[in-house]
Amino acid sequence: MARWRRYEEEYLERHAGDGSVAIAEHLGRTVSSVKSHASRMGISLCKRWHCPKCGRYTFKPLTEWSGWCRRCSIEASADTAAMKNREIRREVEREKAAIREEERRRQMLYSDTNRQKNELRRLREKRNRNATTEGESID
Ligand SMILES: [Zn+2]
Repeated sequence: MARWRRYEEEYLERHAGDGSVAIAEHLGRTVSSVKSHASRMGISLCKRWHCPKCGRYTFKPLTEWSGWCRRCSIEASADTAAMKNREIRREVEREKAAIREEERRRQMLYSDTNRQKNELRRLREKRNRNATTEGESID
C-alpha cells in the first residue's frame, strides 16, 4: 500500500464529511485504507452535510423539499404555517367586513323606505285635508 502523501491527508481532512467511500474513490485508495488512515489521524469520517442556509454541518441528510438541514427546514415550515395563518385570518376579516357593509346598506335602504312611506302618508293626508277644505269652501 502506497504511503499517504501530504495532499492526500489534506484532502482527507477537508473532505472527511463526504464519507470514506467518496474519499476512497477520489484518491484511488481502498475504503479500508482511507478508514484506517483517518483513524490514525484522529479524523471522523461520519458523513456530514453542509446546510447552505445556516452554514452548519449535520449528520443527517438535508431535507429534500428545502435542501436545508432539519432545523432550518422546520423553522421554514413554521414560518410558512404562520404566514398561511395570517393570510386566512385576514381573509376572514375581509369577509366579515364585507358582510357588515352589506347589512349596513340594507339597513339604510329599509330606513329610507320607511321614511318615504311616512312622507307619502303625510302628503296624502295633506291632500285629503285640502280636498275636504276645498269642498267646504265650495259649500
Ligand atoms: Zn441549516
